[in-house]
Amino acid sequence: MREYSALSLIRNAFRGNTDWKPVWRKAEPKPAYDVIIVGGGGHGLSTAYYLASEFGITNVAVLEKGWLGSGNVGRNTTAVRSNYLLPENNRFYEFSMDLWENLSHELNYNVMFSQRGCLNLAHTPAQLDDYARRGNALRHEGIDSELMTPAEIAREVPALDMTRSARFPILGGLMQRSAGTARHDAVAWGYARGADRLGVDIIENCEVTGFLRDGDQVTGVQTSRGEIRAAKVAVAVAGHTGEVMKLAGIDRMPIESQVLQAFVTESLKPFLDTVLTFGMGHFYVAQSDKGGLIYGGALDGYNSYAQRGNLPLVEEVMSEMLALFPSLASVRLLRSWGGVTDMSMDGSPIITTGPLPGMYLNCGWCYGGFKATPASGFCFAHTIARDEPHPLNAAFSLDRFHRGAVIDDKGQGATPNLH
Ligand SMILES: Cc1cc2nc3c(=O)[nH]c(=O)nc-3n(C[C@H](O)[C@H](O)[C@H](O)COP(=O)(O)OP(=O)(O)OC[C@H]3O[C@@H](n4cnc5c(N)ncnc54)[C@H](O)[C@@H]3O)c2cc1C
Repeated sequence: MREYSALSLIRNAFRGNTDWKPVWRKAEPKPAYDVIIVGGGGHGLSTAYYLASEFGITNVAVLEKGWLGSGNVGRNTTAVRSNYLLPENNRFYEFSMDLWENLSHELNYNVMFSQRGCLNLAHTPAQLDDYARRGNALRHEGIDSELMTPAEIAREVPALDMTRSARFPILGGLMQRSAGTARHDAVAWGYARGADRLGVDIIENCEVTGFLRDGDQVTGVQTSRGEIRAAKVAVAVAGHTGEVMKLAGIDRMPIESQVLQAFVTESLKPFLDTVLTFGMGHFYVAQSDKGGLIYGGALDGYNSYAQRGNLPLVEEVMSEMLALFPSLASVRLLRSWGGVTDMSMDGSPIITTGPLPGMYLNCGWCYGGFKATPASGFCFAHTIARDEPHPLNAAFSLDRFHRGAVIDDKGQGATPNLH
């Protein structure tokens, strides 16, 4: 039974759940493909799906060194929004939002996209001015955005400490109502299933260990399961971009790999029905359907490939949460983990042809790439299929760092840990 529906649920209930098929095949590598995608994270899988569904290219393999969802796509805190300041970013992320809105139907897989809003809290008059500016920039692009007063915020999130004597009094906030969350694993599984149904081979436990070259031209990959040839090789390995590009002889990338942690508490009764961000530090929180609070903060602040973080950051994030919600002081933390982010020099991504002939590159997602998964896959597939960028990723080139045409949404300069 390949199609999910209410009818298929009922039928399976009566047949002891014996009719369900595996969500994707366990494909064996073929000697050659039209396109190989290195990295079975959200971006690699969505690229494969759109290559097949939008561009009719189905002789495609996704090579994943571990299992699907073992990277950041299965480790993130699932916030989806498009409230960026600069037009290159907000247009791209708004396109992603359009794709999110129909994704469960398109994939016939419930990705649990929930448009519960995202509220950025402001704690100083200058920050409120800055949010008003961002809200105006968004509205100028036709993207929803709303400046909220403290009274409106108190009605929206009654559990917040709204007193004037709070450690960081709340002076207002910027709300994007179309923002929200999605179920991270379901996004990976849904795209994998969609791509598999269109003929894409998804090959897990297949690590790319080198690139096959004819002069400069990339002609395939060496893997832990043998050589595989391809007319086009696309790299979408997020935090491992530096390591993988080194295999192709490219020693320096404008990317740093840094650890970002996530935290989940025990289940609580529903009290928070929006994604909330704290303005006086780096802290954001949402409540899952199971009731747990899912939250995170800043990067650990050093380069690492370890998928776990350190205690000083844990303490910082907890104290930020308690500054907003003193009533959560006795809530127990259930789980925490880390992911390896691909922090770019200007905080914006790279989706491009090259840097070698026959190669295509997708990276630089910092800690915001989950929300980009649909648009990234769509635009990367376009770039691979047509050998030129889609208008929405034309600015996300690699050579922008040589040309000085950086897209620095936060205005932080070349300090990847601050983007
Ligand atoms: C704790 C945390 C919280 C986050 N929160 C958010 C959020 O709320 N909202 C948001 O939008 N974004 C968030 N992000 C960022 C987001 O998760 C990433 O930007 C995005 O998932 C990266 O793209 P991906 O899914 O393709 O990466 P990944 O899932 O990491 O995929 C890359 C894959 O490449 C594979 N790979 C690496 N090397 C090789 C090789 N040699 N051969 C084969 N395969 C290889 C890896 O195993 C991995 O599976 C968060 C990230 C973290 C870590």
